[in-house]
Amino acid sequence: MRPNRFYNVIRIGPVRVGSHQDGRGRTKHTAVCTAPGCDFSADYLTRAAAELAARTHRCNPR
Ligand SMILES: [Zn+2]
Repeated sequence: MRPNRFYNVIRIGPVRVGSHQDGRGRTKHTAVCTAPGCDFSADYLTRAAAELAARTHRCNPR
């Protein structure tokens, strides 16, 4: 996944949520955890889903 042209980037705890256009003109929403040792990152179809995932994300670094 290449994060390009993210906008509306917000931070919820350690998780960043950003929206971007994919190559076909659709908007995707990505949640990425920035905590060390946590690899969480996922794409969502809606902004609400991405923000919810960010809010409910629990870090479990090994
Ligand atoms: Zn995490």
